[in-house]
This record gives sequence, structure tokens and C-alpha cells, in this order.
Amino acid sequence: MAALTLTIVTPDREVVRDEVVSLVLAPSIDGQVGILPGHAPLVTSLAAGTLEIRRDGSSGYLSVIGGFMEVMNNNVVVLAEASEYAEDIDNARAERARDNSEQDLSVARQTGDQDLRMRAHQALSRAKARLQTTERARGV
Ligand code: ATP
Repeated sequence: MAALTLTIVTPDREVVRDEVVSLVLAPSIDGQVGILPGHAPLVTSLAAGTLEIRRDGSSGYLSVIGGFMEVMNNNVVVLAEASEYAEDIDNARAERARDNSEQDLSVARQTGDQDLRMRAHQALSRAKARLQTTERARGV
């Protein structure tokens, strides 16, 4: 049966290299997009969220933080700002990042600091994507 080959690259490292999977569910900026073998060529922007892969009847979950996904000839390539397997996510760190960014957001609201507001909003999205990914991996 036809399959997909998935690669996920960030500026730091290659998180997934040529992994053979049967389905990719990715968080595009327009909502979740499902890629099966034989999918038409596609380029889409990704939001911060969870990317799910299926292989051998089991699922795997990764956080992806922004970037792009390209699909062509059953090759799926994700270029993300950051990405981690659920198993590699430090949940306590993500909770700290969430709490800090919520505090920053409240300071930004009080002071009207738009730059802080934007940075805190982005940091909160990254933290939420990581926490959501570990939850989905745990089947919550
Ligand atoms: P923090 O404030 O905890 O550093 P961040 O959202 O600012 O979080 P990023 O800039 O997105 O972090 O990522 C920096 C590097 O740290 C990347 O290599 C990313 O994969 C890694 N990283 C960030 N948060 C976590 C986490 N909770 N668990 C594992 N790796 C993480």
C-alpha cells in the first residue's frame, strides 16, 4: 500500500527524518488538515499546535510551532520554528512558560505595551501547543 514519507526540520535540528507514515494530521492556520497517501500537491502555513501521525495502527504526536508544510509525491516536509515529540516535551517548563506569558499579558494590558503583548501572546501559543500535545499523547 502507498505510504507517506514525513520529514520535520527546525532551525536547530531534524526532528523527524524520512519516517514512513500512513496519515498526517497537521494544524494549518485554516484548521486541521489531513494528509493521506496520494494527496494533491499542497503548501500551507502552520499554526502552533499538535501534529498527529499514524503508522502501524498507532499514533504519534508532536508539537509544531508555526512554519510551513509541503506535500508532493507522497513526501510531507514540515519546516517549523520549533517541534518536539510529545515524549520530549518538558511539561513543567511549558507550564512555567504559560504562566509567565499570562503574567506578561496582564502587565501588557495594564501598561499598553503592544510589543510585550505580542511577544507574550506568541509565547502563550507555544506553551499551549506543547501542553495540548502532551495531553493528546496521554489520551486526555
Ligand atoms: P521557554 O520559555 O520554556 O524557553 P519558548 O516557547 O520560548 O519556551 P522556543 O523558543 O519555542 O521556547 O524553543 C527554544 C528551544 O527549546 C527549541 O529547541 C524547543 O524545541 C525547545 N523547547 C522549548 N520549550 C520546550 C519544552 N517545554 N520541552 C522541550 N523542549 C522545549
